Amino acid sequence: MTIAKVLRPGPRPRYTSSPMPTQPLLDGDVIRGVSPLDLTPLPPLPITPAGGVAAAVARARAAQPAWAELGFEKRATLLKAAARRMLERRAETVALVRDESGKSAVQAMMTESVGPLDYLKNWLPTVREFLKRKKVPISALAFPGKRAWVDMVPRGVVGLIAPWNYPIATYFKPLYPALLCGNTVVIKPSEYSPRSGLWFQKALADFLPPSVVECVIGGRDAGAELIRSGVDSVVFTGSSASGKAVLKLAAEQMIPCNVELGGKDPAIVLADCDFERTVAGLVQWGFQNAGQDCGAVERVYVVDAIADRFVEALGAAAGRLSTTGEHYSVGPLSMPRQLAIVEDHVADAIAKGAHLVCGGKRTGVGLWFAPTVLDKCDHTMKVVAEETFGPVLAVVRVKDADEAIARANDSAFGLNASIWSADTGNAVRLGQRLDVGTVFVNNHAITGAMAFATWTGTKDSGFGIASGPHSLLYYARPKTTLVDTNKNPDPWWLPMDATMADIGERLAQAQLGNLGAALKLPFLFRKRVATIKKLVSG
Ligand code: NAD
Repeated sequence: MTIAKVLRPGPRPRYTSSPMPTQPLLDGDVIRGVSPLDLTPLPPLPITPAGGVAAAVARARAAQPAWAELGFEKRATLLKAAARRMLERRAETVALVRDESGKSAVQAMMTESVGPLDYLKNWLPTVREFLKRKKVPISALAFPGKRAWVDMVPRGVVGLIAPWNYPIATYFKPLYPALLCGNTVVIKPSEYSPRSGLWFQKALADFLPPSVVECVIGGRDAGAELIRSGVDSVVFTGSSASGKAVLKLAAEQMIPCNVELGGKDPAIVLADCDFERTVAGLVQWGFQNAGQDCGAVERVYVVDAIADRFVEALGAAAGRLSTTGEHYSVGPLSMPRQLAIVEDHVADAIAKGAHLVCGGKRTGVGLWFAPTVLDKCDHTMKVVAEETFGPVLAVVRVKDADEAIARANDSAFGLNASIWSADTGNAVRLGQRLDVGTVFVNNHAITGAMAFATWTGTKDSGFGIASGPHSLLYYARPKTTLVDTNKNPDPWWLPMDATMADIGERLAQAQLGNLGAALKLPFLFRKRVATIKKLVSG
């Protein structure tokens, strides 16, 4: 297959807009939806019927023991074969994602289609190491005759509730490690990207035993039903409001719940930054995926010393980003709801005194909104306080780094933050004062593409952990086994007596530094063993 053919998968985009949809997204027993490119209706997709979610979980549960029994290396081999085939079928994902989410073919290729095999391979060493049996260090003196170890055992069935902004790549972070750890998985794609989710599940299922990966289709009700249907762990990626509701549901089931939620990432631009690279970096992280990224830069804190020049350059570069043509740089918003939020935030900012540097309006086609830079924003504005999730950079001017740090922390969110400065040592020190999951110096959010780099947040961004070894406890739990080969009873077993009290006192004194108190312990232990044996022999 030629490169040109992959990147030209079909006749879209047409750039002639149909009317805004009037039918509901969840319409009876089907999901509808329109392509963000031109509002063409997408093929309706049947919603999983009543009882279907519980049935999917039951099938996944029945499949789990055999999947776990296969062992890590065989699971990895099957998953690699599936991922390789997905990579070969990349033209399908490009077309599907483009039509369903509005990404350009080249963006769909880069974020959704190139990654399945590479991301999986990145996971393998981390998960392999995590699953290794770990010996418990036990003092032979204090605990004679004992050995113990910890195995990581699969949770069972993992429920995976996904957002729409990366309709296929969203599964790489949680699904691969969940399967590699020996769980079976039921995915619930977003109601805005169900076709991509279903494609991914089927592409995997072709290579795995039946029901190792199940998929249920529906909206938030289907997500809630999934949690109530007896899954053993939930991984939720979505908005902060939904995440709080999901946490409550998971608490009722007493199951672990990994929540990866919204963001409002700040970028701090200091006077000594590499000017041109910083402008390019903020254009990238503000506008890629039309800003529909939990890790998008949404707030830019620029020091006064360079603010005029920087804002002008940022606006000029943003204004040059293409929103038409085959390889447009900034695609449409993925749904009418998101476009409405963006328009509301921009109008609110301008009404409160922000200065529109570029963009600020629809382009008149599909769900497109022109890349927008707003200057002289402040924290009373929605575009600074709330998640916008669109192609909008809100610039807040600050006098120095200290003010920038204070303002960056003045947010309900705490996913990522970046500092742009030539003095990387100083930037790292400043970063220690940022209340976020990840600090980037002279880049932003790039660890989202790394399976081995922990991705997490604070505050309303959620305490969940995606990627890296710390995330794996959501997929496997530690199970300890202790084997006792001691021929004698342990000296602290019942019955209690004065000798035991003496032992307790000597142990306390020894810990406080009176080592002499410990000298008599072996004798007292033997005395205790004799006493305990007498309890049994009479
Ligand atoms: P959303 O919260 O509307 O929906 C996410 C998923 O949860 C969907 O599948 C939805 O059907 C389901 N859902 C919603 N309410 C539910 C409930 N009460 N019970 C069970 N399931 C429920 O979010 P969205 O609009 O699809 O996604 C965008 C959001 O996701 C943004 O806020 C973005 O920042 C966030 N996000 C975060 C990360 C991260 O890593 N932190 C990554 C991607 C997206």
